[in-house]
Amino acid sequence: MVWTAHILSLFPEMFPGPLGVSLAGKGLEEGAWGLKVSDIRDFAKGRHRAVDDSPFGGGAGMVMRPDVLGPAIDTALASAEEGTRVIYFSPRGRVMDQAFVRKLADEPGAIMVCGRFEGVDERVLETRNVEEVSLGDFILSGGEVAALALLDAVVRLLPGVTGNRESLEEESFADGLLEYPHYTRPPVWEGRSVPEVLLSGHHEKIREWRQRQSEELTKDRRRDLWDRRKRNF
Ligand code: SAH
Repeated sequence: MVWTAHILSLFPEMFPGPLGVSLAGKGLEEGAWGLKVSDIRDFAKGRHRAVDDSPFGGGAGMVMRPDVLGPAIDTALASAEEGTRVIYFSPRGRVMDQAFVRKLADEPGAIMVCGRFEGVDERVLETRNVEEVSLGDFILSGGEVAALALLDAVVRLLPGVTGNRESLEEESFADGLLEYPHYTRPPVWEGRSVPEVLLSGHHEKIREWRQRQSEELTKDRRRDLWDRRKRNF
């Protein structure tokens, strides 16, 4: 079985979107990962097929109805492999990081619920054991862009998607550090030279230089990552 994402959205036409091109798109075409997209509106009932309604207790905006979203999630769960998590994108959720992405890539796939309006009725989250995850501390107009970001991050880890798997080991966060700076040709550009050590051919020295750069960058830019890393050692 291939890793399969099941997206629930009011805008199914947004998928695969940017993931239909480049390596992810090729992987999708070749069956290295699977994508199912359901239109939440298909689960709406009544003459008006309403997916949202005004919030109890008053206030601005609309809320997605549990009697629409519940059946949509249940249908996705019925066709998903055992152990597939249900994720709801929400600014209240745990902020996604590479550890979360790696773990998800090892599972059979994910059901991803994309919210719109002010969000969803709380009871759906409780009864369907939904996990809330966030793209970051800002507000999007819908969960779709968060879903695309998470999918991109997961899919590139899957076998048969990324050509050079070595690059997956070395990149930022692989060992809790940000990545070192990169240089390529020409060796002098606008009067600026590439660091001498990188031209030396001395692999051990290069490795040490890169490690030091990674550590300095992380200490400087992401004190939170650096402190967490020190705790883990
Ligand atoms: N009223 C909400 C924001 C709703 S934004 C609040 O104040 O918290 C509409 C939808 O966009 C949400 O239901 C959610 O699915 C999605 N969304 C918005 N910001 C997000 C973020 N940072 N990460 C993931 N999903 C987000």
